[in-house]
Amino acid sequence: MSSAESPVTRFAPSPTGFLHIGGARTALFNWAYARGHKGKMLLRIEDTDRERSNPAAVDAILDGLKWLGLEWDGEAISQYSRMQRHAEVAHELLKAGKAYHCYCSPEELAAMREKAEAEKRPIRYDGTWRDRDPSTAPAGVKPVIRFKSPQEGETVIHDNAQGRVVIPNKDLDDLIILRSDGNPTYNLSVVVDDHDMGVTHIIRGVDHLTNAARQTQIYLAMGWQVPNMTHVPLIHGPDGAKLSKRHGALGVEAYRAMGYLPAALRNYLARLGWSHGDDEIFSTQQLVEWFSLEGINKSPARFDFVKLENLNGHYIRHMPDAELLADFLAFLPHVEGGPELLAKIDDTMKAKLLAAMPGLKERAKTLVELKASAAYLFAQRPLAIDDKAKALLNDEGKAALKALHPLLAAAPEWAAHPLEAIVKAHAEATGIKLGKFAQPLRAALTGTSTSPGIFDVLAVLGREEALGRIGDQMAT
Ligand code: GLU
Repeated sequence: MSSAESPVTRFAPSPTGFLHIGGARTALFNWAYARGHKGKMLLRIEDTDRERSNPAAVDAILDGLKWLGLEWDGEAISQYSRMQRHAEVAHELLKAGKAYHCYCSPEELAAMREKAEAEKRPIRYDGTWRDRDPSTAPAGVKPVIRFKSPQEGETVIHDNAQGRVVIPNKDLDDLIILRSDGNPTYNLSVVVDDHDMGVTHIIRGVDHLTNAARQTQIYLAMGWQVPNMTHVPLIHGPDGAKLSKRHGALGVEAYRAMGYLPAALRNYLARLGWSHGDDEIFSTQQLVEWFSLEGINKSPARFDFVKLENLNGHYIRHMPDAELLADFLAFLPHVEGGPELLAKIDDTMKAKLLAAMPGLKERAKTLVELKASAAYLFAQRPLAIDDKAKALLNDEGKAALKALHPLLAAAPEWAAHPLEAIVKAHAEATGIKLGKFAQPLRAALTGTSTSPGIFDVLAVLGREEALGRIGDQMAT
């Protein structure tokens, strides 16, 4: 198979926590590249650390990927389940003379470390067993298998984002590939899995660049083709410092609960470390068409909540009402008070929400804000009135409602435009400003002083409910 024809990428999260925002971006890049090149994105769960991995984290990662719309190809692969195969490759390397048994005791290794520290050298295995005759092995000691790393020359990584990265081989010591208990180590497992899965393109965080050098050596020793590599820059906070929780270092489920749309988050994440000219807003389709590994930047990206929020607002405003309603309903189970609200949404309420959507979406930057704006639809008579709305329902406000009630009740058609015409005509006839009617109406209909366009609110509530709410406030 030629990698140019049909690339295979993979996302390889460690299930030690949720799918954090950096991982989501890595997944997005792998996904976009695969989709744009008629390839596949595979999913591998790196669950060999049994103490730190947990099934809930695996579920959260799968859930997060699905929510973001990043479907992978085939079944998710458990790295842990492939341990036998990893060990097999360690033994193959041993047989080929490219790895060796090391019998060093923990005391000897500690002494090696201390010596290196005292001499202010980097801590490295000193090669004690590299060329030693195995017949001199101490009895009863279970050895580890170490990789025979080349000591001279250099390892070169041709990285799409980082450029040509050169690592002197003297800096790579003989890493353990199989522990004395028979368990493989991380770098070996990754190489064996990537090779066996047919991965042609590795796209991952730049924190794996040193591993890339070690992994390259294992590929070469096995005579396997080294995949094309891209190490993506880190995500920093808006101040350029390491991303903190406050600045967005959260799991994707937190973004879902904050009311971001998957499409908006995809667009935003794509721009973190990748660019296509000056384009800021683009569809997922365009991302897939445009995405290239050469477009990935070398320098860290800056995460900026304000930008994300503005982009999300843009997506909310431009999304077709029915789609937005579907996203809103899918969002409710994940936000405080959402499940209770969802229980109240029958078909009638769905129709009301859909009718209210044009007004609601103009004002909301997140689905949390949209939920707050939609609260008037769910409110029960007599409405709870907040303080600002109470102030609008003073004597003058009540008088305005009393004047409007019979005029509205007589409206032949209950829709925004004709209702607006009635109120406007009355304002003009009395010489009173329109706001003097609109504000008390808003207070009576929503219990608050801010809401979507008041004539839309009137229309969406329906004749009976709207007149009822107005009547309630005239009477108090
Ligand atoms: N499991 C690693 C991580 O979550 C990724 C390893 C890789 O992509 O090679 O950082």
